[in-house]
Amino acid sequence: MTISVRPVEHRPDYDGESPFPEAGEHTPVGGSQAGLTAAIVVLPFVALGAAIFLAWGRGITLTDLIIAAVLYIVTGLGVTVGFHRLLTHGSFTTRPWVRVALGVAGSMSFQGNLIDWVAVHRRHHAFTDRPGDPHSPYRYGTSLRGQLQGLAHSHLGWLFINDQTPAERYAPDLLADPAMVRVGRAFPLLCALSLALPFGLGWAISGTLYGGLTAFLWAGLIRIALLQHVTWSVNSLCHVVGSRPYRTRRHDRSTNVWPLALLSFGESWHNGHHSEPTCARHGVERGQIDPSAGLIRLLERLGWAADVRWPDQARLRHRRVDVPPRAGD
Ligand SMILES: [Zn+2]
Ligand SMILES: [Zn+2]
Repeated sequence: MTISVRPVEHRPDYDGESPFPEAGEHTPVGGSQAGLTAAIVVLPFVALGAAIFLAWGRGITLTDLIIAAVLYIVTGLGVTVGFHRLLTHGSFTTRPWVRVALGVAGSMSFQGNLIDWVAVHRRHHAFTDRPGDPHSPYRYGTSLRGQLQGLAHSHLGWLFINDQTPAERYAPDLLADPAMVRVGRAFPLLCALSLALPFGLGWAISGTLYGGLTAFLWAGLIRIALLQHVTWSVNSLCHVVGSRPYRTRRHDRSTNVWPLALLSFGESWHNGHHSEPTCARHGVERGQIDPSAGLIRLLERLGWAADVRWPDQARLRHRRVDVPPRAGD
């Protein structure tokens, strides 16, 4: 399956350095949506303060940390393997129940319903670091001030700007899939489950309400905040700092940022990804840790994943900036 989104808003006049034409357009989102977004962003940090206060002198329990780690891994891989590599880029095909399971796991990360997530991300690839990109750090130009403003915008600020990405245009395949539409509709319920689960587990394992509350804070809110910032860092840092060993399209400044590789499950090999977006492995070189590719390999071995687009080494070699391109590349 090949999914490609053809940019229709050509901006041949963009020089790669100026602020985007829409940089001055700040149509704010509606009051209730802004409140909800602010709450989702701010509350986990309020919770972090509360959690440290609660933990002071008593510590947090091993149970809290184990539940947090398990949920971080499950929801994180739901985003990277499910939302991103499977549903956005079609890097492999899988059984319907695996699609649903990955969609459910990703939805529990509080990153929006899966259809909107996919639509925004396909638009990011269609207009990478050019006018039309929903979260480019180059939106405000390449001056120091513009770059700092752009980093804030690409990390978080873009969530507060009313800039709708129509799913009808960017994710018609998912809108035509009843199972995916159902998972998308269940998003609020899955968010509730993502918080109720650690609370219930913490309560059941410790046998005390206090144990439920500490698990809710560490394995619920703080775990969500950590994954959100790691994902947002791929949008912000992984287009600004790091290495660019592979050729990408004009203006695309995606980078590889190795320190984030493990926490982002391999997604911070972002230059490799932008160079070959449909490839199932983003960390394409020896030593580049990519746990998401590891899960796809496991699914393939179990017979649950097929048509996996593994890296083509000959093709990759010619995508390197230090190797001359082949004719036709
Ligand atoms: Zn990117
Ligand atoms: Zn992508």
